[in-house]
Amino acid sequence: MNLEQQDPHSLLPKEWEDLCVGWGLPAYRGRQIFQWLHQKDATSFLEMTVLPEELRRKLESSIPVFEMQLAKKQRSTKDETTKFLFRLRDGQCIESVLMRYEYGYSLCISSQVGCRMGCRFCASTLGGLVRNLTAGEMVQQVYAASKEASVRISHVVVMGCGEPFDNYDALLRFFSLMREEKGRGLSLRNITVSTCGLPHRIREFADCHVGVTLAVSLHAADDELRRQLMPGAARFSLDELLDACQYYTKETGRRVTFEYALIKGCNDGRDDAVRLVQRLRGMLAHVNLIPVNPVEERGLARSSPQRVREFAKVLEMGRIPVTIRREMGADIDGACGQLRNRYARA
Ligand code: SF4
Repeated sequence: MNLEQQDPHSLLPKEWEDLCVGWGLPAYRGRQIFQWLHQKDATSFLEMTVLPEELRRKLESSIPVFEMQLAKKQRSTKDETTKFLFRLRDGQCIESVLMRYEYGYSLCISSQVGCRMGCRFCASTLGGLVRNLTAGEMVQQVYAASKEASVRISHVVVMGCGEPFDNYDALLRFFSLMREEKGRGLSLRNITVSTCGLPHRIREFADCHVGVTLAVSLHAADDELRRQLMPGAARFSLDELLDACQYYTKETGRRVTFEYALIKGCNDGRDDAVRLVQRLRGMLAHVNLIPVNPVEERGLARSSPQRVREFAKVLEMGRIPVTIRREMGADIDGACGQLRNRYARA
């Protein structure tokens, strides 16, 4: 393992143990290091007073800890949603959004800097993909937001900037880090991953039986409209995508949540709703309707509340379970990627 290239927060307990054993130290030193990074929020190896001084210095010089910096914070005046802009080791910035629900606090995290999928309604993709995040940078969003807001985060949604399945290995490592008992010990049932729909990855993910909730962004019930709205994802047909979702349910026994962002005059007609019912009939599925957050660079507007209700009604009549997502943080650059873009332009 090339230590200099590693992000200390990305290493699992077993990897720390192996490193310590390789240095002639007992394996338990590795578990101590992991615990200090992930449970005690150590910002430097020098703080780890349980370790011998020589080891602390060796770690600090070879694989220094970088604490994510808060670049900006916006708090909604309408609800308790808080948007954080964090600066990374290389100066790049990413967004995380903290939301309060009846069941506790949920954090929406980013998986990439930028995104290459090109969805028309999304601000994250305007500058393309800059780079993947490490698993350590993904967990650190949870730790940093929790510290900034002084709250315990009980749920995590991987739905911020980036396509998580485009950063697949880091995503799986992120799940392993989050569930570690010597870390935050978060139940995987409390984690949702949202993809724009890459069928081969959905099948691979099903085979892993990870146990998190899968959400798939659909946003259109026919291939032509989906190609216009989501050119990256629509390289795959809806048939391929929905087959993969059925495979996921067959393998895991879990239902898939389909996200559908309603855009005025674009995908919110009665015919669109009827097509959606026809597509999803017979699947173990649930539809989450999202009144889209306006992105001024794209000229897209949100459907009226009445249109949203009518759309939902068609789904209910077709016996497709549906919820309308509560609008959160619209007064704080609510759409993913907006805060990062504004900050970059300032
Ligand atoms: S919606 Fe998600 S997948 Fe699509 S461009 Fe934005 S970040 Fe990427």
